[in-house]
Amino acid sequence: MSNSIHLLPDHIANQIAAGEVIQRPASAVKELLENAVDAGATEIKLIINDAGKALIQVIDNGKGMNPIDAQNAFARHATSKISSIEDLFQIRTMGFRGEALASIAAVAQVSLKTRQANEELGTGVVIENSQVSETSPVACPVGTSISMKNLFFNVPARRNFLKSNSAELKHIIEEFTRVALAFPEIYFSLTNNGQDVFHWEAGSFKQRAIQVLGNSYQTKLVAVGEKTDYLTISGFVGKPETAKKTRSDQYFFVNRRFIKSAYLHHAIANAFEGLIPKENFPSYILYIDVDPAQVDINVHPTKQEIKFEDDKIIYAFVQAAVKHALAQFSIAPSLDFSLDANIQELDAIQKPFSEEQKFSAASSSLYAGFTQKNQAHFIPKVSEAEKKEWKSFFTNIPSGDGNDQNNAESFIVKSSSMGLYKDDTNELSIDKDATLLQINNTYILAPMNAGLIMVHQQLAHERVLYEKYQNATTQAHATQKSLFPVVLELSVADAILLEDIIEDLAVIGYEIEPFGQNSFIIQGIPADVISGNEKNAIELLLEQFKHFSSDIKFSKREKLIRCMARQSAIKAGQSLSQKEMHILIEDLFNCNTPNITATGAPTFIDFKEAYLDGLFSK
Ligand code: ADP
Ligand code: MG
Repeated sequence: MSNSIHLLPDHIANQIAAGEVIQRPASAVKELLENAVDAGATEIKLIINDAGKALIQVIDNGKGMNPIDAQNAFARHATSKISSIEDLFQIRTMGFRGEALASIAAVAQVSLKTRQANEELGTGVVIENSQVSETSPVACPVGTSISMKNLFFNVPARRNFLKSNSAELKHIIEEFTRVALAFPEIYFSLTNNGQDVFHWEAGSFKQRAIQVLGNSYQTKLVAVGEKTDYLTISGFVGKPETAKKTRSDQYFFVNRRFIKSAYLHHAIANAFEGLIPKENFPSYILYIDVDPAQVDINVHPTKQEIKFEDDKIIYAFVQAAVKHALAQFSIAPSLDFSLDANIQELDAIQKPFSEEQKFSAASSSLYAGFTQKNQAHFIPKVSEAEKKEWKSFFTNIPSGDGNDQNNAESFIVKSSSMGLYKDDTNELSIDKDATLLQINNTYILAPMNAGLIMVHQQLAHERVLYEKYQNATTQAHATQKSLFPVVLELSVADAILLEDIIEDLAVIGYEIEPFGQNSFIIQGIPADVISGNEKNAIELLLEQFKHFSSDIKFSKREKLIRCMARQSAIKAGQSLSQKEMHILIEDLFNCNTPNITATGAPTFIDFKEAYLDGLFSK
């Protein structure tokens, strides 16, 4: 019998490994940018074509590679960054696995030019299917230029899986922004299809933050800064007025590595409690620096998650630091550093400091205030009266959901411009003189055909709007010009998303035009949306759209329509007049599919005469 186990050839093994490291153009961008950072570059240029599908090139002025390294760099597990397991706990570089270049070379056509400062000529390397096909001396500047063409040219299944250019570009910009925020001392530029997208001069952390977030943030950032021997936190949080309905502009870095942490996000959100409306998200760019031995960055191949040795301490520290910063800028009560009750219960808080911790704590002004009872973060609670006084400062924050009763009323009245009542031949109809009963400001009871129906006002309205938006064709929907056009400033990622759906929005009546970097001007809104609220409406729409956008089975337009319908529908809990209830039910019955929402929830329940009779029979 022949043996059936054999070793995979390198190029296949690399292709398989590449699946983990390089999922899309943005992952390659991240790896190449990080390599340039690790090489000590002070200038990094990213050039892409077709959102990275055709070309990704990174040019740096870092230390370069010698001719041997230039070829070896593409072997699997080839790295100059660690040589022993102990090194793993002292990592100061972004990369260390030695997998990126091998993976990239397995799924794209790669060429490299690199020169070290002490060399006259550099080295050119061309790689095809993981094999070095050509090396030659070349004239090139000090540093490295790597270009990869036709990503996944040899893995069609993956290539087909890539999203639209705007979606992939969005991911690239996300990665680009993260690296740029982590290293403001480096100049970064991004060119897409020959167009200059960003060029960010080297500068301070604050300057970089403003390059990324936009000039309007100049006066809207609050500096966060606390230092102990154990860890340092620095960076910025946006003042409460910059809080948005979309979860953008939230960046957390640990040792200059972007990480995602719902846990730490929660700590920040907590610090903002009472300062911003509940459904809003604060913006922040925060940097934590700790001894590399305290964190395990090895938990995830793409290294976005992180494990702290003691993450509860970090939570408490982040929360307190943000509160402290807000207090210093008189944005939050300066006395209220009380931590979440659950956090107060933690061992880390309740247990006395170790001698070592005590020492490091003493070096922080923040900690100095925290050492009562010999405990790390125990803060005596502020009296309720004191808190209330502060709260009153913030009660004028608009709730911003745009669904107050006035809105609802005019919305419904306007939405039915056609004749109000259909003739009696329609099976679904109610007597126009019937008195309707609204229960719990949510359900409408209406007599129908000797029985009755119970309508869910929100779901019913969702159906009505859904069909209305669906029927809106390219012959544009009624638009009302805004008296005062509203300017909308978005994060890069949101701006790209909005650009992507701007035409579809036009079809349903939103007239939005690009207005410089990441800004848009809202010229007109659907005739039935209340003006004055367009900014909120769009932010909410983007947020919902993002939730839907992982659902690939729907077209962009379908998703948009669903979001719009959900967003604009009157809500449960709103009191409606007789007239409004009649119009709503009438509109519902005019729908093609009146009985369910687009997502399948019933809009009304029909209690037929026979059914009711049955209920009362013995
Ligand atoms: P890692 O970054 O994990 O070490 P990579 O596959 O990304 O692995 O890179 C392999 C090696 O190639 C690096 O360790 C480094 O020595 C070298 N290298 C890659 N990119 C550059 C660059 N832009 N400049 C200088 N050296 C580089
Ligand atoms: Mg690397």
